Amino acid sequence: MNYKIAVLPGDGIGPEVTDQAVRVLKTIGEKFGHTFELETALVGGIAIDETGSALPEITLQVAREADSILFGAVGGPKWDDPAAKTRPEAGLLALRKSLKLFANLRPVTAHKDLIGASPIRQNLISGVDLMVVRELTGGLYFANPKKRWTTKRGRRAVDSLKYTEQEIRRVLEVGYNLARSRRKKLTSVDKANVLESSRLWREVAEEVALENPDIQTEHILVDACAMHLIQRPKDFDVIVTENMFGDILTDEASVLAGSMGMLPSASLGTRKIAKEGANLFGLYEPIHGSAPDIAGKNLANPLAAISSLGMMFKMSLGLEQESEAIENAVDSTISAGYRTMDIYSKENRNKKVDTVGMTDQIIDRIENPHKNKVPKPL
Ligand code: NAD
Repeated sequence: MNYKIAVLPGDGIGPEVTDQAVRVLKTIGEKFGHTFELETALVGGIAIDETGSALPEITLQVAREADSILFGAVGGPKWDDPAAKTRPEAGLLALRKSLKLFANLRPVTAHKDLIGASPIRQNLISGVDLMVVRELTGGLYFANPKKRWTTKRGRRAVDSLKYTEQEIRRVLEVGYNLARSRRKKLTSVDKANVLESSRLWREVAEEVALENPDIQTEHILVDACAMHLIQRPKDFDVIVTENMFGDILTDEASVLAGSMGMLPSASLGTRKIAKEGANLFGLYEPIHGSAPDIAGKNLANPLAAISSLGMMFKMSLGLEQESEAIENAVDSTISAGYRTMDIYSKENRNKKVDTVGMTDQIIDRIENPHKNKVPKPL
């Protein structure tokens, strides 16, 4: 098959990890006989520098015309001036909004050989397998008024938290469909004891729960959820929550997986790809940011970006075998002890690799899958 992929590397470690995902994509293309037509475009800080806009019209066009998007990360200190007219993050937000990608799926699993990389007690995280569905195009990140102004008594700022029942319902429905193919439990997270928008969220969630009686539903407050994610992470299956709560909770959840550099994500809407066997159009990106502290040093963990590509194959392009080839290669590379510095442990006698070296291992295992079966002894 022939697929058109938009590649938007962005800033900081975004280009470094996206380059590695593209290397893996090319390997899969060769091995499985697919043609991937790649079109790279500017987004974020680099786009501001070169065009004045964080999401140039041409980038949006490239994204719209693609079967899926591979995204890196945006942002960095260079563009952090609070008085700046536009910020890199605005590019990503506008992209999500323009493409109506309202459901952000963030799987969190604790690989058995990475349990030691987490600061959390091993018995709590062994076997963790949860999926956070974060609402992506509503809430505080989008609604107006959103502004800063100065009065005689000092500076003021406002952000608005607005949701419609349709926005809440459609993301919950994505969650229920996922829960049905998993362990049939859904946790809806809100702050209904304080926020009006959360009271609407809870009301709609209770209605949608009644329409899905085969799924066990629980409602918890976001502050309690932050605690339960650490205390009893294995109890969660699918968590559905609004935009900002999901943003924060998944950074916390990354600690369960050992590092931000391990967590992939898929952003989906309702547009179908007009190709045989394909599913929904989507944007695929690691959950981490541009990590300016390690950018340009070949230190970043590329596995979140590479696993995001695996999600793209499965969820958008309908290429299950190709997705599995990536998953198996990631699994066995970790089992064989290869680690970037974010998950490296000297005591476990891990083999330290850089960004490119980690990807070399993944590619080697995709090309030679027999290596997946016999992990090298540590
Ligand atoms: P970050 O995710 O970039 O980094 C947090 C910490 O995790 C850093 O110590 C970093 O070195 C480490 N880290 C992140 N990814 C890693 C990887 N692949 N391998 C190894 N270590 C990794 O978050 P931040 O520092 O809060 O934000 C930096 C910039 O990124 C900001 O400008 C922020 O706005 C932006 N950001 C962008 C996105 C996005 O593009 N989707 C998401 C979050 C933050």
